[in-house]
Amino acid sequence: MHKFFFLALLVFGGSCQINTESTATQVSKIPKPVITAKVPVPVKDSLPLDDTAFSEPNIQPPKATITPQKKPIQVPKKKFPGILDIKYITGKFDQRKHPDFVRLDDRYCAYPDMYLRKEVYAAFLKMRKAAQKEGIKLKIRSATRNFFTQKRIWENKWTGKKTIAGGENLAKTTKNHVLRAKKILRYSSMPGSSRHHWGTDIDLNDLANSYFEKGKGYKMYQWMLKNAKNYGFYLVYTEKKGPNPRTGYNEERWHWTYLPTSKKILAQAKKILKDEDFKGFHGAETAKKIHIVKNYVLGINPDCL
Ligand SMILES: [Zn+2]
Repeated sequence: MHKFFFLALLVFGGSCQINTESTATQVSKIPKPVITAKVPVPVKDSLPLDDTAFSEPNIQPPKATITPQKKPIQVPKKKFPGILDIKYITGKFDQRKHPDFVRLDDRYCAYPDMYLRKEVYAAFLKMRKAAQKEGIKLKIRSATRNFFTQKRIWENKWTGKKTIAGGENLAKTTKNHVLRAKKILRYSSMPGSSRHHWGTDIDLNDLANSYFEKGKGYKMYQWMLKNAKNYGFYLVYTEKKGPNPRTGYNEERWHWTYLPTSKKILAQAKKILKDEDFKGFHGAETAKKIHIVKNYVLGINPDCL
């Protein structure tokens, strides 16, 4: 009778502690579900009353994110030209969105939001570090400027909205279009013809040749003349000298090009860029008379051709 009493306690009571060995042997024969049967009851009862707290995060997010994000990923590949494309050569793209370009660290630039091709920037960073070890600071004054930026610069001068060096308003002083274009070309390139379109060229430290004749400027320039080529950088607008001086822009001691890339772009420009391609800005018709490709695009340091 005692045994049955204890078993009954175990089955219906569940939590009784058994102390004797003989009774424990009997207990082990009792099916386990008696104990586990307790589990579902408290768990279910402990669910929060407001079950939307569980269902909301599981259902909503996947639907909201999948479809809208897939399309824009493919657009840039189609939209942005490569270095051998006429659109690239003439700067008709947005460097801020082009996948080959990178935004530069503002600390190395004269003003924020500058861009270069990725490999060009990587080479610049190496050169900058090497220069810094010798106490020379390299600061980028200008990097990529696309066609649209160059058009603004050009037309400001063309229309007299801005004067050229010396305070001359070209719209008033120079009615002849070819002469007017040539005057602007002393200081600024024609939209579509600038190497700054390519993301390979940079202006360093100062935009006056005299800066590089003494003090810090001299030291920097001498260091660059000796070392820049080890990082791929070359002067583009060298001094015009000798019996057959180069044509094109005047000497610019600040303008350096990353030759491994710009040489490829120039070779392609030589093949496909024509004076007739210059369109879409005031005075574009002068390109043919000036022979902008031959005299300016190709009128550079022979080492860069
Ligand atoms: Zn420049």
